[in-house]
Amino acid sequence: MEKKRIQKIVKASWVAVIGNSLLAFSKIVIGVISGSMAVLADGIDSASDIITSLITLITGKIISKPPNVKYPYGYSRADTIAAKFLSFIIFFAGAQLAISSMEKLVNPVELELPSQIAIYVTGFSIIGKLLLARYLKIRGKRLNSLMLSANAKNMQNDVLISVSVLIGLLFTIYFKLPILDSITALFVSIWILKVSYEIFGKTNEELMDGNSDPQIYKRIFQIVTKVNHVFNPHRLRIRRLGNLSIVEMDIEVDANMTVRESHDIAMSIEKAIREEVPNIYDILIHIEPLGNEEDERFGLNENDVKKLEN
Ligand SMILES: [Zn+2]
Repeated sequence: MEKKRIQKIVKASWVAVIGNSLLAFSKIVIGVISGSMAVLADGIDSASDIITSLITLITGKIISKPPNVKYPYGYSRADTIAAKFLSFIIFFAGAQLAISSMEKLVNPVELELPSQIAIYVTGFSIIGKLLLARYLKIRGKRLNSLMLSANAKNMQNDVLISVSVLIGLLFTIYFKLPILDSITALFVSIWILKVSYEIFGKTNEELMDGNSDPQIYKRIFQIVTKVNHVFNPHRLRIRRLGNLSIVEMDIEVDANMTVRESHDIAMSIEKAIREEVPNIYDILIHIEPLGNEEDERFGLNENDVKKLEN
């Protein structure tokens, strides 16, 4: 199951590498043949998207490695680290666009009408990127991969930038309002910075073992309370490893139970959770005698879940 998922992530990354290489290569060739610096520059810029796609490809290989003594939880989180890395690349692209559009606002430059070939290539590139972005978005969602979703957003941003360039040309050449070109670019750059911030935020949550999803907490409390002879399930903590979850919690059982009986209860809880909640990597249940009082680290009790919903 997990093996198949990772194979699909690697395949999607290959599609992104090949798609972006084709786009960059055709732009560079057309740029050289037509002598259009704009197309050539766009082609070289697209080359950076080959690098982001290569990052997801290499990471796909890394997350396929089994757990070992150094990484006993395996490598699933490499996906999250790669997504964070992409958020920096996206941030950089947004900041670059913001700076150049603000410069243009302060010192407006005379814009030339690019050659027809440049406009066609931009159109072709928009379609190509749109298809890639859509494909990666669907794969990222279905495979629950933050890095594929981040790369999809990266492709979407490229589409946005190309469209804003065309709109800017329209404003400048046909409506004689060059200032609107810079303003459009500025809005697009703000959007891109927002996208990078969102990806950055999402990866932080996972890398700090946070989990803001009340549904999975609710679900597990419901399941555990249905298991016989289980009392006071508490201190529930659920952390994510890429698309997988690790569940930790305390339960109380009759103090006179044998180790075997209480272990059987823990096993039936694990079985019930795995049957009803997908993508569980591991479950750790700490068993306490009924009425136990002790100092404990933080964890969620059933009535804490409401706080996550707010
Ligand atoms: Zn406890």
